[in-house]
Amino acid sequence: MFNSLSDRLASTFKNLRGKGRLSEADVDATVREIRRALLDADVAVPVVREFAAHVKERALGEEVSGALNPGQQVVKIVNDELVNILGGETRRIRLAKNPPTVIMLAGLQGAGKTTLAGKLSKWLRGQGHSPLLVAADLQRPNAVTQLQVNGQRAGVPVFAPHPGVQSEFESATGDPVAVARQGVEEARQKLHDVVIVDTAGRLGVDSEMMQQAADIRAAINPDEVLFVIDAMIGQDAVNTAQAFNEGVNFTGVVLSKLDGDARGGAALSVASVTGKPVMFASTGENLDDFEIFHPDRMANRILD
Ligand code: GDP
Repeated sequence: MFNSLSDRLASTFKNLRGKGRLSEADVDATVREIRRALLDADVAVPVVREFAAHVKERALGEEVSGALNPGQQVVKIVNDELVNILGGETRRIRLAKNPPTVIMLAGLQGAGKTTLAGKLSKWLRGQGHSPLLVAADLQRPNAVTQLQVNGQRAGVPVFAPHPGVQSEFESATGDPVAVARQGVEEARQKLHDVVIVDTAGRLGVDSEMMQQAADIRAAINPDEVLFVIDAMIGQDAVNTAQAFNEGVNFTGVVLSKLDGDARGGAALSVASVTGKPVMFASTGENLDDFEIFHPDRMANRILD
C-alpha cells in the first residue's frame, strides 16, 4: 500500500533536499503534492485538509534545526504527523488485571470480524495465552459455523449457542447479549485468560445493529473493543468509523484486507477522525495473515 504516495513524495522531497532554505512557495508546493497524494490514496477529504494545514503550519513555524536541511525537516514533520495520527506508539492489547481479558469485535458485515477472531485467537495462543472464542453473531446464518471452523484451525475452543439442543445454555439461543455474557462467564469458569467475542454486523450502519453492539458492550464490559474495518472501503471509512465510535466507543482499530488493492487511506482517516489507534492489520484469508500495526513503520513505508 501507499506505493504511489511514496513515489510522489519522494520526487517532491528530492527537490527539497537540495535547498538550503525553504520559502513559503516551497512549502506550499510540497503540501499541495502531499494533499493530492493522500486524496489519491483515498484518505477522507476533511482529514487531508487538516493534515496539510498542520504540516504547513509546522513547516513554516519551526526554526531550521542545525542537523537537518529544510527539505529533511519537512520530511520529518510529515513523518511525525503521520505517526501521530496513526496512534503514535504501537498500542498493545491491554490485559485485564483480573483475567479473563475481554475483547469485543465490532464492525460492518463482511469487514472481516469472524476471520480476525480466528487470527487473533491463534496469535494469542502463540503468545502463551489460553483464549476462548464466543460466537455472538447470530445475525448471519453462517457466522457461528464459520467461527467454529476458524476456532478449530486455530486450536481454540468456541462457545456458541446450540439451537434446538437441550443444554444449560439453551436460554441463550437467539439472544446475542446473553450468549456474550455467558461466553465470558464460561471463560472465567474454565480459566481462559482471554475471551474474544464476535458480534453481528450489517451491510450498512443501522440503529438496531448499533444498539445490539452497545448492549453487548454494556453486558460484558470489555477491556478492548476492536473496530474492524475493510481497508477497501475508501471515503466511506470516516462515516462508518464515526458511527461505530459513537455507538460502541471502540478502543482500537483493526484494518482488514490490506493485502488487496486498498490504498490504505482508511487507516489515516479512521485514526484521525476517531483519535483511536490502529492496532492490527489483517492481510489475507489465512489465519496467519495478521500483523501488529506499527505506526512508525507505516509512516516510513509511506515516505520511503
Ligand atoms: P465478518 O462478516 O465481519 O465476520 O467478515 P468475515 O470474517 O466473514 O470476512 C468476510 C470475507 O472477507 C470472507 O470471505 C473472508 O475470507 C474475507 N477476509 C477477511 N479478512 C480478510 C483479509 O485480511 N484479506 C482478504 N483478502 N480477505 C479477507
